[in-house]
Amino acid sequence: MFKTIGYAAHAHNTPLVPFNFERRTPFAHDVQIDILYCGVCHSDIHQTRDEWGNATFPMVPGHEIVGKVTAVGSEVSRFKIGDRVGVGCMVGSCGHCPECHDHLEQYCNQAEFTYNSPDKHTGGSNYGGYSKHIVVHQDFVLRIADNLDLAAAAPLLCAGITTYSPLKHWRVGAGDKVGVVGLGGLGHMAVKLAYAMGAHVVLFTTSPGKAEDAKRLGAHEVVISKDPEAMQAHTASFDFILNTVAAPHNLDAYTALLKRDGTLCLVGVPDQPHPSPSVGQLIFKRRSIAGSLIGGIKETQEMLDFCAEHNIVSDIELIPMQQINEAYERVIKSDVKYRFVIDLGSLTA
Ligand code: NAP
Ligand code: ZN
Repeated sequence: MFKTIGYAAHAHNTPLVPFNFERRTPFAHDVQIDILYCGVCHSDIHQTRDEWGNATFPMVPGHEIVGKVTAVGSEVSRFKIGDRVGVGCMVGSCGHCPECHDHLEQYCNQAEFTYNSPDKHTGGSNYGGYSKHIVVHQDFVLRIADNLDLAAAAPLLCAGITTYSPLKHWRVGAGDKVGVVGLGGLGHMAVKLAYAMGAHVVLFTTSPGKAEDAKRLGAHEVVISKDPEAMQAHTASFDFILNTVAAPHNLDAYTALLKRDGTLCLVGVPDQPHPSPSVGQLIFKRRSIAGSLIGGIKETQEMLDFCAEHNIVSDIELIPMQQINEAYERVIKSDVKYRFVIDLGSLTA
């Protein structure tokens, strides 16, 4: 074991504070990483505040991790010291179920998440990326191309893959009209990715002040979702809508905008359920409401390579570790442009 430092929540209603703990010395298949940057996902807030009811404390959040390899175990062949790498929401899975076989480890019943998930080595809990170091099995380490800015690439590890995966699964491409609901961390990545895939992109926002940015990021049209007339103008016209909103809201307003056989895919995970959708609105046009969870490791590498090819990174606000609690308050107010990323260089023992 070796000593490291991070920031942890010790209860659902107290701020994050500095936390000293230990990481395992790499086993044969492990990669040791000096974490340089870590993105701040709304899921970090949901979990540290126990909004999903599964929190274990102390909790070191963070699953948008980038850094450099500093040591490798004896059986590691794919990474070497100095490599630019990333770690996302998962650090393990069973490896032999149908989901793992299909490269969909996120749906494995034994998927091991990067934090707030049992650590099978110590029997404690996994600690995430709000820290200086991490040690991860090589199968869950991703490669980051040299042309991507490392800090701005961090959010690709969750916000990027969580939006890329459903866009690919529902085969979004040229000729499709695609909606993105919410311009936050996930939403702004969805706009960039759907645009790069060739779709006609419409951004739905509750924040009129974000309209100009949405267009700069790639949206062809912006709709203020609080304006019923503006919403109605798009009735039954979308092939696919990706909803990234982190709070419960009326889904009927969006299913009404789907064409026959269109899909509204939910990726936001509110602490309370959405009001139940209208069945009539679904059956009369064979519309679907679906959900999607992050993406598999193979697809995450594919997404990172797609982003390298298209020069796509996140629009970030870089913060020192010490500003994390203020950053959380701004995310909750939908006031982040468009992802906070922690500079771990700010954290000293
Ligand atoms: P975020 O940065 O806070 O963005 C959410 C956006 O939703 C806000 O910027 C805001 O956009 C909109 N919004 C917020 N409150 C709203 C309300 N009451 N009504 C309508 N719109 C509202 O959050 P994020 O990090 O992108 O995460 C979004 C959600 O996805 C969270 O619940 C997170 O836990 C979840 N998530 C899921 C997965 C998965 O695998 N499925 C992975 C990562 C995160 P506007 O200002 O434009 O309206
Ligand atoms: Zn996340």
